[in-house]
Amino acid sequence: MGAVIFANGNVITLDPSKPRSGAIAIRDSRIIGVGTDEEMLSVAGKNAKVIDLDGRTVLPGFADSHVHLIEYGLMLSSTILDIREARSIEEIKEIVRRRAREKPKGSWITGHGWSTTDLAEKRPPNRWDLDEVAPNNPVMITDSGWHVCSVNSLALRLAGIGKDTESPLGGKIDKDPDTGEPTGVLRETAATRIEQLITHSDEELITALNYALDEAVRLGLTSVHCAWEGAQHIRVFQKLLMRDELSLRVYLMIPASLLPHLLDLGLYTGFGDPKLKIGAIKVLLDGTIERRTAALTQPYEGEPDNLGILTLSEEELYDIVSKAHKAGFQLAIHAIGDRAIHVALDSIERVLKEKPKVDHRHRIEHASMLDDELISRMRNLGVMASVQPVFIGSNIDWMLEPLGCKRATELCERYRTLLDVGVKVTAGSDLPADSTMNPLLGIQSAVTRHGFALKERITVEQALPMYTINSAYASFEEELRGSIEVGKLADLVVLSDDPLAVPTDKIGDIRVDITIVDGEVVYSREHFQQPRR
Ligand SMILES: [Zn+2]
Repeated sequence: MGAVIFANGNVITLDPSKPRSGAIAIRDSRIIGVGTDEEMLSVAGKNAKVIDLDGRTVLPGFADSHVHLIEYGLMLSSTILDIREARSIEEIKEIVRRRAREKPKGSWITGHGWSTTDLAEKRPPNRWDLDEVAPNNPVMITDSGWHVCSVNSLALRLAGIGKDTESPLGGKIDKDPDTGEPTGVLRETAATRIEQLITHSDEELITALNYALDEAVRLGLTSVHCAWEGAQHIRVFQKLLMRDELSLRVYLMIPASLLPHLLDLGLYTGFGDPKLKIGAIKVLLDGTIERRTAALTQPYEGEPDNLGILTLSEEELYDIVSKAHKAGFQLAIHAIGDRAIHVALDSIERVLKEKPKVDHRHRIEHASMLDDELISRMRNLGVMASVQPVFIGSNIDWMLEPLGCKRATELCERYRTLLDVGVKVTAGSDLPADSTMNPLLGIQSAVTRHGFALKERITVEQALPMYTINSAYASFEEELRGSIEVGKLADLVVLSDDPLAVPTDKIGDIRVDITIVDGEVVYSREHFQQPRR
């Protein structure tokens, strides 16, 4: 393939030695020049194809450091019902009722995305709600954060969950206080027995993944860190890679339960292909603030006995951290509450004493609640924060109600302090939790915070690396991608406007015109205006 020059543009490189330029030259999958139009002509030769950017802005392709692509795709392809917009249990019932009419008896109905904060009834749906509309199909609907699910009576029966079933470690089977019968509301690990019964074919998952990939490249993403990928998901990603249909880079976080198998195979972080890599070992350590299951040092508002839950004991966590670290794995520990983050850092600190490693890049996923001490410990230990700015939306009741305004304002989503102290911060969406994969909206949220705790506001200049070079760093790829520099992979995004120039509350409105991965156009607005399916 000949060289291509993107000329007459506004190139924001994120390379501090040359922050802006007017043109880029690429050949095959690599960037071969960054400079003026004339300079690029001499780098790329007179036969290079020239694309006139007409003043548009070019950035390194965006990255999402924490996303659940296949689950989102299952919703986009309607395999899983999308109930994120439901505002009452009645609405959810109507959606499930319609699906039950289409489905053969006995086949599973699954849905995702309800949230008690949003529901008029302010409680999770229960088995009796679901029995009413789908008596002959097992039903499971998960909440937006995947920490609580509601199932009907048939699902409970199939999973063998009854009056006498005890709650598993790290989870809770809600029971009716009068009869002792399970209500159909299952928390955290209590849902595992149900999840094991629900299966999708590889082809179903591939279809779903294709939907999600289309959306991702449409939003300018060229790289994603997929946050919880077990055996079938890994196989599906590989099938897509083999078919040459994996349109962007995927870095897999593998559930800790699979660590023994990876260790048997001698694999560790970084194994794979530039498009598809085994990344971190993902450990789920607590729940969420909204569900009042994140592990806190001080109790939840109005619940003096509730400190949330840790899904692992300190020794269990240490066992995983130690095995993974010593085998060369990066760790990605889901820890939202301040107590969970404290426990996670204890484990990391202990293992680093036993086996020091400077460049481990262990990460705390979410890292939502941080006091100053936790932040300085993260810096001292070299632990990264993987945050989701898009959660700071216009409605932050999910944080204010469980924590109280003062604590939420003081401790939550402290990007500014993290950066000031010197913690590396990368950002993602956690889609399809209640959010969007649009990185520009994420940047807007990090910068404006919709008015919330403005002392932790950051600038656009600080937010851009969180969605580009810092994400590359978080997957050990900063030499390969994440900024526009000669020799790096040509992963680029062309935008209608400059995020550094538009009003901060308009960043999310910026249009993605072209997305390029490995030097190839994977999305362009002109060609893909019509949905492909
Ligand atoms: Zn997640």
